[in-house]
Amino acid sequence: MAENMKTVALLGSTGSIGTQALKVVRKLNKSGDMKLCIGALAAHHNVELLEQQAREFRPKAAAVYDKKAAADLRLRLRDTQVKVLEGIEGLCEAAAYEGVDVTLNSVVGMVGLRPTLAAINAGKTLALANKETLVAGGALVMEAAKRKGVDILPVDSEHSAIFQCLQGNNKGELRRILLTASGGPFFGRTRGELENVTPRQALAHPNWSMGAKVTIDSATMMNKGLEVMEARWLFDVPPDKIQVVVHRESIVHSMVEYADRSVIAQLGVPDMCLPIQYALTYPSRLPSPAGELDLFKIRSLSFYPPDMEAFPCLDIAIQAINRGGLAPAAVNGANEEAVGAFLLGRLGFMQIPELCARAMERQPDRPAESVGAVLEADRAAREFVKSTLSR
Ligand code: MG
Repeated sequence: MAENMKTVALLGSTGSIGTQALKVVRKLNKSGDMKLCIGALAAHHNVELLEQQAREFRPKAAAVYDKKAAADLRLRLRDTQVKVLEGIEGLCEAAAYEGVDVTLNSVVGMVGLRPTLAAINAGKTLALANKETLVAGGALVMEAAKRKGVDILPVDSEHSAIFQCLQGNNKGELRRILLTASGGPFFGRTRGELENVTPRQALAHPNWSMGAKVTIDSATMMNKGLEVMEARWLFDVPPDKIQVVVHRESIVHSMVEYADRSVIAQLGVPDMCLPIQYALTYPSRLPSPAGELDLFKIRSLSFYPPDMEAFPCLDIAIQAINRGGLAPAAVNGANEEAVGAFLLGRLGFMQIPELCARAMERQPDRPAESVGAVLEADRAAREFVKSTLSR
């Protein structure tokens, strides 16, 4: 692929990362710094926005997970050449679409696993924003990427930071990763104070603007636990070499420490456009929509150890990765289901970690050796959460 011209498949195009990615693409194309074509788009069900995006970016294909919504989109786009695909098969086809160089997977949740594998198996460079893919299917995904010689470029801001800090250095000399966490809206609260928090309070993130699922995960700190798992697979580092550091200002996006104890950090304003663009333009660095970092305005940066007592999700996630096998898939599945129920007001905030821990205990100790095994562990954990809700 030519360095200054790439064709992108964008999965999850109507979500928070997807819309910001299109903002990045629009800006790069306008400046002429890089030509990015959209080869395929995919979304869950928001056909109104997907139609607009398809008319603006003229992809060859647009996939919709929800089949009814796909029929609607087909009708809306009948005057165009855009091929409308549907279901999980459609998402996989979009991920692997002919002529695509880079597949940016920003779908939310486990549904992203099969499209990730489809992109890798088709030899596409993978820009990965769907962390659940690595959390539950890390061994499968990394093995497939290695076999196919495919690069996985992280889009998650912390992992992009780590990836950036590793550039030009020898990964074998890495001593540890310092993974930063904002601490979310409930930093400093005790476990007891968190019992009665509402979805509205949990959705008010101080620094980052993100989708609902990741914002709640950020409030419980499950997000950081999932990110420890993600880092473990992306950088092939054991979990005991990944230290979570609460950093309230979200300016240092993560750090790496080398054998000589030199610590390298990546800083910037908290804006997802930056890691999204780096994954799309890598290895080039080009002007981006992100704002300038004004250190004189920020003045001071603060760092704290995580409070595992008030935020047990982080500890549960670390336990799951140490157990290995299907334990992370079970925790992730239970968490997705529990977060959905919390958003609907069907369970309390502190029941999220409780159900994740119980789902992990119920999961038999088996290797994550196939997509089927991972999806089954995911399904069983969700069923378990649902069964406790209906009681
Ligand atoms: Mg993150």
